[in-house]
Amino acid sequence: MAQKKIVVVGAGVAGLTTALLLSRTERYQVTVVAKHMPGDYDIEYASPWAGANFMPVSVRNTPAAEWDKNTWPPLEDLARNQPESGVWFQGTEIHNRKKDLGTATATWFADLLSPDPWFKSLFSDFKEIPKSDLKEGVDNATSFTSVCINTAIYLPWLVSQCLKNGVVFKRAILKHIADAASPGVHHSGQAADLILNCTGLASHKLGGVEDKLMYPARGQIVLVRNEADKMYSISGTDDGSEEVMYIMTRAAGGGTVLGGCYQKGNWESQHDPSLAIRIMKRCVDMCPKLTNGKGIEHLDVVRHGVGLRPCREGGARIEKEKVNGIWVVHNYGHAGAGYQSSYGCAQAAFKLVEEALTDRARL
Ligand code: FAD
Repeated sequence: MAQKKIVVVGAGVAGLTTALLLSRTERYQVTVVAKHMPGDYDIEYASPWAGANFMPVSVRNTPAAEWDKNTWPPLEDLARNQPESGVWFQGTEIHNRKKDLGTATATWFADLLSPDPWFKSLFSDFKEIPKSDLKEGVDNATSFTSVCINTAIYLPWLVSQCLKNGVVFKRAILKHIADAASPGVHHSGQAADLILNCTGLASHKLGGVEDKLMYPARGQIVLVRNEADKMYSISGTDDGSEEVMYIMTRAAGGGTVLGGCYQKGNWESQHDPSLAIRIMKRCVDMCPKLTNGKGIEHLDVVRHGVGLRPCREGGARIEKEKVNGIWVVHNYGHAGAGYQSSYGCAQAAFKLVEEALTDRARL
């Protein structure tokens, strides 16, 4: 049977994971086309800026919870068996302050902060931390062993896995999603049979998609050489409803990511120095081990960073539709969960590809 020609537009975690799953079957011949590739740092490219960890914020009994649930086994397998992927296990603590109830962060984190979250059963060591072990001001907390992904290793690792399976990578900027089917874009030189749209936040302006439900949630981070003993997150801060606190030490000398903020509708690409100070103070306060009990002047900064989470009202879009007569399968709008939902979303997109191409064969 002739192979179907697929063009994946986008080389962030969504595009690369989807290309990897497609490349594992002989039925598909895959080209990835993107403006930005692993190795680039750009405000239009969210994936390198993520921490990234698996800390589900999805709501029980939703497609998002299903995508997260389906992503845990592959990530756990990578941490256990493939250290070269840059994924490793890390202890995790989630702290909750009752006074944050009803704030934007606590609402976004509702399931994560619960002592009985839907994902509890995924972790054999999930437990509540005794009140006596908590810092003043924290009302309850949970701990479990999750994973942290060093994106500087993991994204190129995904490219390598795809290359091994025959995927071809090309740089290009498309004006319209259907342009991906033009002859010459797919590496065979022929027109593609199907297009995957994995363009993240750019889906709000890409011709043929123009999804006005998309908006950015700006995240600012400080990458430091200091190490934390585990990953930490909390329901809120005293510095405003758009400011958050998280800490994660990446595998293989990747440094420790200190975050952050969740500024909806903010497109600013440059880091705000006063916010950076607040981020560092909050993180050292949560984890004094970072500086051996000393002040933030003992943090050794590698770089400051800003990324835009590709958010979508109503959640990520994993759907198929015909645009200018060609099947397009969408996989975008993953907000702050692109890694922790990556395999689940790519599996869902894969299913839609199979449906669309079978449908096409029948026409
Ligand atoms: P992107 O990574 O933005 O990739 C989009 C791709 O499409 C790029 O290759 C781009 O060049 C290409 N493209 C766009 N338009 C065009 C065009 N017209 N023509 C050609 N190519 C085009 N997620 C987690 O799961 N865990 C975390 O801990 C976490 N922490 C985060 C912290 C921060 C500070 C930020 C900013 C995000 C975080 N995220 C986290 C979210 C995660 O980073 C995103 O959900 C994810 O990276 C989105 O990936 P993507 O592939 O959809 O988009």
